[in-house]
Amino acid sequence: MRRVRGQQTDRTSAAKGDVAPPQRQDYITLMSDVACVRCSQTRDRMAAPPFRNELGDRIYDSICQTCWQEWLQQQTAIINHYALDLRDPRSREFLTTQTEAFLFGQPPA
Ligand SMILES: [Zn+2]
Repeated sequence: MRRVRGQQTDRTSAAKGDVAPPQRQDYITLMSDVACVRCSQTRDRMAAPPFRNELGDRIYDSICQTCWQEWLQQQTAIINHYALDLRDPRSREFLTTQTEAFLFGQPPA
């Protein structure tokens, strides 16, 4: 036997709303912008640095979420195209070079 407990009460109180409004401050912090060096626009920053190294910090500080998403698609294409094995340090180094070239426009060394 199914019992719907307190449905009436819940609906009423939710409509009246004792719920606190969203914290505007938190929202702004989460959606912080970055002046992107790739697309030259101020757009949403990615949620966190993509790598735990100097390049990761650099990308976080100067590349927008949109360009990063573009790179992730490109990266998948590159990995497939070259059949990269990411357990191989040379493959990872190659990919890092490609990452910098794509995002910062530096020619591969
Ligand atoms: Zn961008």
